[in-house]
Amino acid sequence: MRDLVTAAALVFDFDGTLAPNLDLPDMRRRVIALTDANGVPTQVFERLHIVEVIEAATEWLQEHDPSAAETYHGKAHRLITDIELNAASSTEPFPEVRALACTLRQSGRKTAVVTRNCSEAIRTIFPDIDDCFDSVLARDDVPHLKPDPRHIVQALDGLSVAPQLAAMIGDGGIDMHTGKTLDMYCVGVLTGSGDTDTLVSAGADLVIADVGRLVELDWS
Ligand SMILES: [Mg+2]
Repeated sequence: MRDLVTAAALVFDFDGTLAPNLDLPDMRRRVIALTDANGVPTQVFERLHIVEVIEAATEWLQEHDPSAAETYHGKAHRLITDIELNAASSTEPFPEVRALACTLRQSGRKTAVVTRNCSEAIRTIFPDIDDCFDSVLARDDVPHLKPDPRHIVQALDGLSVAPQLAAMIGDGGIDMHTGKTLDMYCVGVLTGSGDTDTLVSAGADLVIADVGRLVELDWS
């Protein structure tokens, strides 16, 4: 696919793309402080994303300090969910998001949201998200999280659209990288964590200021 408007389905990231970003560096710092306090060596988790830090540290604890593993896992997940829900209570979707979803639906495109955020937080921010998008897969809805491509494949399977006929839209390098793994057309947006260089070097075919720009395209 060489052109965004020929996409049969559009898969959107949530934080930084459809709504203002979470403070992920701060969340990571707090998870790592808890992980350090449990005596897990840094090399077990240093290059991992936040949820994967918790999974790797839990596995390490199961082997080295089994009595601490379950408590750590519960506390760490509670910590990230509390941060997400606290941020969600004062966050709203970007202004043009509902109009975009409406435009895409009227044009016959399928739409999905794939996010590492939890289901409760995204529905606090965007209570009518299920009316606007055909599929919404949050962290607690899936066994595999992006950058594992199976997160996106699960969404597209539900829409009966092959990845090669779909576009991925996101603010992060992991969105572009995961989309490219599946041979999707990738659109970076500048409303979140990634700048143009980051998004292009992660594989973006196109970089736009924000998702609202997509409303202006001719989807007919
Ligand atoms: Mg994002």
